[in-house]
Amino acid sequence: MIADAWRRGTVAVVGLGKSGVAATRLLAREGVRVYASDASDHPSGGDALTALRTLPGVTVDVGRHDLARIRSAAAVIVSPGVSPEAPPLAAAREARVPILSEIDLGFRALAASGTRCIAITGTNGKTTTTALVAHLLRVAGLHAEAAGNIGRPLADVALQADHYQWLAVEVSSFQLHDSPHFAPAIGVVTNLAPDHLDRYPAVEAYYADKRLLFQNASDGDVWVLNGDDAAVLDLAGDARGRRVLFSLRRPADGWYDASDRRLRLGGHALLRRDELGLLGDHNVANALAAALAVQEAGVAPGVIGEGLRSFHALPHRLEPVREVGGVRWINDSKATNIASTVVAIEAMDRPFVLLLGGRHKGEPYTRLAPLLKERCRLVMAYGEAGPQVERDLKDQVPLERGTTFEDVVARARRAARPGDAVLLSPACSSYDMFKNYEERGMTFRKLVEAM
Ligand code: ADP
Repeated sequence: MIADAWRRGTVAVVGLGKSGVAATRLLAREGVRVYASDASDHPSGGDALTALRTLPGVTVDVGRHDLARIRSAAAVIVSPGVSPEAPPLAAAREARVPILSEIDLGFRALAASGTRCIAITGTNGKTTTTALVAHLLRVAGLHAEAAGNIGRPLADVALQADHYQWLAVEVSSFQLHDSPHFAPAIGVVTNLAPDHLDRYPAVEAYYADKRLLFQNASDGDVWVLNGDDAAVLDLAGDARGRRVLFSLRRPADGWYDASDRRLRLGGHALLRRDELGLLGDHNVANALAAALAVQEAGVAPGVIGEGLRSFHALPHRLEPVREVGGVRWINDSKATNIASTVVAIEAMDRPFVLLLGGRHKGEPYTRLAPLLKERCRLVMAYGEAGPQVERDLKDQVPLERGTTFEDVVARARRAARPGDAVLLSPACSSYDMFKNYEERGMTFRKLVEAM
């Protein structure tokens, strides 16, 4: 894992959140000299930085990057949050210093200790599928953990003494870009759609980064692919390894059988759709992807069915909170754009009141109107976006304006009838009223729990 050049020189770690801190510790453990820096005076690594300063061979710089030291480094390890245009990375590229992601570093350390990885990428559903994979592996009695974008850095996992048999690793396109050694045993691509066009010049560049999942493909690898998504099949191209497909439309390695509403692996029925504690077709696809991945890791269908039954929605992602007086309250605070709210509305199988608003992000809400005609009892428009939501939707669906978040929830409660749902899927960011989407979701939960 550690090149001679790294031992002779210094490796620069850019960004000192938890990934940067873990990368620094891992390098220091391997006896590599490290220059670790962060432009912020208060990097999110916080207290851990004090401990870093005491490690032999480690220099920590906060509030600035010494570009001269970065230009002369043997390599740069970059944390997920750092933009490719950031000055330290531009300096490294100019000086032809190799830039590697923290994932790449962590992966190499883990591979050396025998841990195998199931990598999950795609435009949507990465976090849910990653959590599902880790859960199913654990239900099967395997020592497994979810890591990468979902929370725990790979370098941090690599630092711990006991070894995992399997890791479920969520990887973004940005991380794949700087991960030349990443070689998962099993790779999952959930779906593909244009995204991140703020950070990529064109959709081709985004897909090209996603394609790097296959860059080290070998014959023993397995690729779990969305058989309903031509762009995903195209992405895998003729990469070495075996393909297994999931489909919501037709029989496949993993598929949804609409005739008896069961999820199946080939001929094995796993569970009925209504036994899955997740709402929406998109989550049936995520469940099938996870089921196929762990089957390839050796888990039996009976155990997979049992694991899918015991999995609960992740917080703030179409999460059923509670039923009150026959009304189901659902927290989808993570839906901060129109596309996510579309998916949530499509998952509603009963009449619903929709809480829509927050800080407007630019897209019009008119696209929601045709989807709301059938089942939406009332749109509660609120927050900074309230006036715009009202303008865009008021002639198409029943709509009310709310003031405070408490007022919005109280009005929704009055409007909902037994058998309905109240769905918080705001299609907006939360920053006009809350610190982040988590705080918004927690506030919703508290109000519902107090009913
Ligand atoms: P990611 O980590 O890729 O952002 P998440 O699992 O956190 O994905 O889900 C985020 C949002 O993406 C969900 O709230 C839902 O709106 C949408 N989503 C999840 N899975 C899928 C899927 N398979 N297809 C389309 N949209 C999805």
